[in-house]
Amino acid sequence: MVPIKILVVEDEQLVADDLRETLEYLGYLVPALAATGEDAIVMVEALQPDLVLMDIRLAGEMDGIEASFKIRSRFNIPVVYLTANADRATLERVKATQPFGYILKPFDEKILSTTIEIALGRYQAEFEIQKALSIAQADKQIAQFQSQLKSQYLYMAAHEFRNPLTTIRLGSEILKHYSNQLPKEKIQKHIDRIQSATDSLTDLLNDILTLGQAESGIIQCNPAPMDVVTFCEEQIETLQLVAGEKYEIQFSVIGNQRIAYLDEKLLWHLLNNLLSNAIKYSPKGGIISLTLSWEEKNICFQVQDQGIGIPKESQAKLFEPFQRARNVANIPGTGLGLAIVKQWVEMHGGTISFESEVCRGTTFVVRLPL
Ligand code: ATP
Ligand code: MG
Repeated sequence: MVPIKILVVEDEQLVADDLRETLEYLGYLVPALAATGEDAIVMVEALQPDLVLMDIRLAGEMDGIEASFKIRSRFNIPVVYLTANADRATLERVKATQPFGYILKPFDEKILSTTIEIALGRYQAEFEIQKALSIAQADKQIAQFQSQLKSQYLYMAAHEFRNPLTTIRLGSEILKHYSNQLPKEKIQKHIDRIQSATDSLTDLLNDILTLGQAESGIIQCNPAPMDVVTFCEEQIETLQLVAGEKYEIQFSVIGNQRIAYLDEKLLWHLLNNLLSNAIKYSPKGGIISLTLSWEEKNICFQVQDQGIGIPKESQAKLFEPFQRARNVANIPGTGLGLAIVKQWVEMHGGTISFESEVCRGTTFVVRLPL
């Protein structure tokens, strides 16, 4: 067991030596003796004792009460007074420093040891209470923050529903009142718009539900051995068909391995989100590359494009729901894809990061533990 360290503050050498001897006999460690309040403060900082035994009348400018006050407020170390002063005025000043004990000289060995033990016990109890209070306070703050965040997300989600709903409302009103007078093509155009708005709403709803499920842990991560190379080749092939000739989606592998232990469904969504972003935010087309590399402990997916990039000031919050960079112009999106990707990556115990330069392109890197 580590011995309890007690700093003795006493300006009379003989008394100090006697105290040290008694304390050491009682099993405590006395790392130093201080003769002034100023020395005591320096020593407390350097030695971090468990308790200070403090005389009130000391050599030097500062008396023991002032020194105790500084020690309590700066270092939160318990102080027990050991003094010959017992007048009312001194006692009042002592009380203000909230001491852990007060022993009158000449002291008795038993009273000394009991007072020290009680002081240490009380200090420990106070420490535990303080710790519990801080934890409760932190938990309360986190809960408040989460609840604020949830209402903020709710508000943002409601806002995202507004545009497609307006399109549906206006389109159906026009069809209801003017369908007899409108040419066939115009009617078809309104129907197409309504359908596309309905699709957007469905996508949005699915994304919000997926994010909610991921956040509340309903979506489980079910890893199984899979051939990641073939899997990526197939996914690239499908996306190339959808993207068209304007884009060249390349795939390369660094390393000879093929098999990893991953959740196939989640991996598909993860890569689909990153590659769809790479396509969507490269309106001029260009090369989009997926590089798979095997590291000692991770499998690494890198998705690179030559698109519009992400301005520095929009980068910090990009993984939060509904956050979009300021340069998206009229490229459609709700800002949910990356928030979902991040949840999935974390479910796999992995990490996601990106580097981007406006008008030059973006690279997302996902590392999943093998
Ligand atoms: P959706 O929810 O439909 O995916 P989104 O694409 O706007 O909508 P995220 O995928 O979460 O949402 O992306 C958030 C934002 O990050 C985008 O709005 C865009 O500003 C920026 N971003 C993401 N990927 C890229 C990229 N490859 N190049 C440039 N900007 C990107
Ligand atoms: Mg997206």
